[in-house]
Amino acid sequence: MKDKTKDKDDLSDIMYSYDSDNKILEENLVLKQTVNQLMEEIRRFKTLPLMVCEVKKVMDKQAIIKIPNGNSFLVQVMTDKKIKPGDIVYVDQKFLNIVDKADETKNPEVENFVIVEKPKISWEDIGGLKEEKEKIREVVELPLKQPELFKKVGIQPPKGILLYGPPGTGKTLLAKAVASQTNSTFIEIVGSELVQKFIGEGAKLVKEIFQLAREKAPSIVFIDEIDSLAAKRIEMGTSGEREVQRTFMQLLAEIDGFNNLGNVKIIAATNRKDILDPAILRPGRLERQLEIKNPDLEGVKEILKIHTKKMNLDKKIKLEELAEKMKGFSGAEIKAVVTEAGYNAIRNKRSKVIKEDFEEAIKKLHKKEEEKITMFG
Ligand code: ATP
Repeated sequence: MKDKTKDKDDLSDIMYSYDSDNKILEENLVLKQTVNQLMEEIRRFKTLPLMVCEVKKVMDKQAIIKIPNGNSFLVQVMTDKKIKPGDIVYVDQKFLNIVDKADETKNPEVENFVIVEKPKISWEDIGGLKEEKEKIREVVELPLKQPELFKKVGIQPPKGILLYGPPGTGKTLLAKAVASQTNSTFIEIVGSELVQKFIGEGAKLVKEIFQLAREKAPSIVFIDEIDSLAAKRIEMGTSGEREVQRTFMQLLAEIDGFNNLGNVKIIAATNRKDILDPAILRPGRLERQLEIKNPDLEGVKEILKIHTKKMNLDKKIKLEELAEKMKGFSGAEIKAVVTEAGYNAIRNKRSKVIKEDFEEAIKKLHKKEEEKITMFG
C-alpha cells in the first residue's frame, strides 16, 4: 500500500526547495542591481569634471572658447545643440571638445534673483491714469522708440522715472506696459529683497543687474520699493547700514554710467517718496517723478470694466452703481473685489455673478480696512 504521508513530505520538500530557489534568484537580482549602481558610481567618480567655458566665436563645427583661466582655444563642437557667441558650454578637460551647452547664462546668480520677462500688457489693460500713461510714454517709450528725434533736437531724454503713490495703484502695471509696448526686456528687482537676501553682495548684484540689462537691451530695469535702498540715512553705525549704503552708491554709479540715449531705462517705484535720499532724484538720475494716485470715479469704472471683461455677469448688474460703492478703492482692491465676487458665485453654486456677490465682496473689503485701522491706529 502506498504511504500517503511520504508523498506529502515529498511535495513539501519540492515546495520548500522551489521557494528557496526563488528567494536566491531574487537576492541575486538585488545584488546584481547594487553592483551595477556601484559600478556606475565608480565610473562617475573616475570621469574628469567638465570645464565651464564661454563661447567667443562659432565657425561651423568649430568654436573659439575662453576657458576659466582666461586663455582661448579653437575647439571642436561635439553637440548638436545650436551654439552662439556668449553661450556657456561644457568642455571635456582632455581634448577640450564642447560636449554640451549649459542652460545657465553668464549671470546665473542675477537671473535667479531678478525677474526677467517680456510682459504682454497693453495700455488698454490699465484703467484710468490717462495723463500718467501719456507722461510715462513721453519719458520712457519715446526715447526708446525714437532716439533719433532727441538727437536731432539736441536734448537728452531722462534715464528713467520715479513712480510714487499708495500701494496697488498700478505702478508695476504701468512699467510692464511700457516694456511690452517697446518690446523691451523687463527686469524687476525689489529693493527690500536686494538688501535682505544678499548681505555683502548687494553692490555686486546691482552691477550685474545692469550688465544683464545692457546684454538684453532694449530693457527696463524696474526697481520696486526703491526706498529700502535709497532712504535718507542719518546714522551709518551698523555694518548693515553701511552695506545698504554701498548698494545704493553702486546704483547711483550705474545710473550715472549709462547713456541717456541708450536703450536701458529705469523705472523705480515707492510708496514713501518722503524718505528718499535727494541724491537719487538729482538731474541726470531719476529727475522725473510721477504721482500715481487711487483712481477717481471714472477710473474705478474703467478698472472694474477691465477686470470683469471675461466674467459671466448677470445682465441686471450696472457697473456704474458698483463703482459708486467702490469710490476710493485702489486698482488692486477693485481687482480683489471682482475675484471675491466670483468666489461668492462659486460658493453659491452659480456660474453667473450677481449684484449681491459684489455687494458682499465690497462689504468684506470695507471690514478688512476697518480691522486694519483699529489694529494700526
Ligand atoms: P505696490 O506699490 O504695492 O507695488 P503697484 O502700484 O505696483 O503696487 P500693481 O502691482 O501695478 O500696483 O497693481 C496690482 C494689481 O492691481 C495689478 O496687477 C492689477 O490687476 C490691479 N490694478 C492696479 N491698478 C490698476 C489699473 N489702473 N488698471 C487695471 N488694474 C489695476
